[in-house]
Amino acid sequence: MSVLDIRVLGDPVLRERTAPVTGITDELRSLIADMFETMYAAEGIGLAGPQVGHGTRVFVMDVDDNPLAMINPEIIESEGTERAEEGCLSIPEIFGDVDRSTRIVARATGIDGKTFEVEMTGLAARCVLHEIDHLDGKLFIDYMSLIKRKFTARKWEKEAVNYPDFIRKLEPGKKASRRSRSRSTSPTDSAEVPFEPEL
Ligand code: ZN
Repeated sequence: MSVLDIRVLGDPVLRERTAPVTGITDELRSLIADMFETMYAAEGIGLAGPQVGHGTRVFVMDVDDNPLAMINPEIIESEGTERAEEGCLSIPEIFGDVDRSTRIVARATGIDGKTFEVEMTGLAARCVLHEIDHLDGKLFIDYMSLIKRKFTARKWEKEAVNYPDFIRKLEPGKKASRRSRSRSTSPTDSAEVPFEPEL
């Protein structure tokens, strides 16, 4: 297994629609193993194919110690709406509120080649929806208001210089250091910011 480079905002691969997987090959199994390794190294809870440069309809996730790979995933039921803050491993240091369904049922193919359905709520449901967006070339910043998006673009301009060629390199076997985050919108709030999921 190896830790892959993560593609960051600006890499065109993040904006392309992925191609459905037509067969479970050794190559795909190896990609999925590497994606888990990469997600854990980056301390994320979800990671989709395009984020590691693969236009493949697959993502991995691990919410509450429940690792899951979903191939050709689709949402077959959804209900409720909840607004919560999200981050993305491909857009480091940027966070924003996104409305997502509170409960979903997803259908996908597993690494054993069998189709399965799974019901998810809360953060797990949010994660699946965020990752499926990745497979359609969509990013969470697309949900921001125009003003927030302009602000984000300026912030990202400064951040992007850390990622030449839109590549974020992780150190294998070493956990990413979680930098302390301050909310620029509320400078008076110096308390610890609750964990924002990076997906
Ligand atoms: Zn993401």
